[in-house]
Amino acid sequence: METKKDYYEILGIARGASPEEIKSAYRRLAKKVHPDVNPGDKQAEEKFKELSEAYAVLSDEKRRAQYDQFGRVDLSDMPGGGFGDFSDIGGLGDLFGEVFGDIFGGGRQRGGARSQRGRDLRVDVRLDFTEAFTGCDKRIKVRRLEKCTECSGRGYASESDVQVCAECGGSGQVRRAQGFFSMVSTCRRCGGEGRAISRPCRKCGGEGLEEQQRTIKVRVPAGVESGSRLRMGGEGEAGMNAGPNGDLYLVFEVEEHELFSRQGDDVVISVPISYGEAALGAELKVPTMEGGIKMKVPAGTQSGKVFRLRGKGVPHMGGFGRGDQLVEVVVETPVGLGRRERGMLEEFEKSHGGKANSSRVAFDKLVEKLFGSK
Ligand SMILES: [Zn+2]
Ligand SMILES: [Zn+2]
Repeated sequence: METKKDYYEILGIARGASPEEIKSAYRRLAKKVHPDVNPGDKQAEEKFKELSEAYAVLSDEKRRAQYDQFGRVDLSDMPGGGFGDFSDIGGLGDLFGEVFGDIFGGGRQRGGARSQRGRDLRVDVRLDFTEAFTGCDKRIKVRRLEKCTECSGRGYASESDVQVCAECGGSGQVRRAQGFFSMVSTCRRCGGEGRAISRPCRKCGGEGLEEQQRTIKVRVPAGVESGSRLRMGGEGEAGMNAGPNGDLYLVFEVEEHELFSRQGDDVVISVPISYGEAALGAELKVPTMEGGIKMKVPAGTQSGKVFRLRGKGVPHMGGFGRGDQLVEVVVETPVGLGRRERGMLEEFEKSHGGKANSSRVAFDKLVEKLFGSK
């Protein structure tokens, strides 16, 4: 999402703040609104997300530079980022942990004993050659389990639908006699929580999850190849019992182009030239992915010669710079000669003989050495 948030304002720091100032501002503010300190407080959670987003951007030199220059940042590679949907608190917990150490004792366990991370999903995305070259915006359809809209993922409609677990009487543990011994184990019915749902949500049957069809906007970076993967943090399936979301992986397949092909980040093209152009030299108009350019072919160019056009290739994915364009020239032997043209060529052969064709001379010599002259 292209948010117009002022990350400096959110953290209450000056534009020129040092990395230490950024860190200490985040440390001071995020501690107060951390979800573990304010359970169930939606406002605090939003504030925490906002702070974490600001910190994630400004604490990273590259993202900060991008933000300073353009006023927005591609959030796709950030923890819990997922293209502007900064919703995976689990991922933010990791970020938080990096700054504070594990002061809240492992944010990921918050969901209770039975909390479970959502499944990762994979979606294959087809791009045409040009889309992969320039990067593009895509809308991806995903069918996934999300938090039940009826019960917000709790599995029950209201608090009165949850009662002290009848199995364990609220202790979360059951004592079972086995012969002379008595064994204590975690209650299976409530998973050790001491409370159990007496009337499950009617929509999801108490699972807390329901299937949804979503369309997700994705910014595909320039330079993607067939087989490239893009991870969208938190865009997978919802976790069970407040477990974090899984991730969504996009796997790309790039279609072939009629003129160009790719070797890594180099674009390759094969250009036919005439016999005369190869012998006399010529200026060719060569197409690139960004329009035609002129390229000089020197006199005496052999078929199969490859010319390199620097910086005309594919942008390096997730980095600076780009590949080259490789232009292979292929000499076409003239066909369909008229009588006059034939005469001229015969004349040419008589005069030229093959004296300047050094590779032919070397070839003849080698054959003579190996098989003798005959
Ligand atoms: Zn129980
Ligand atoms: Zn439900």
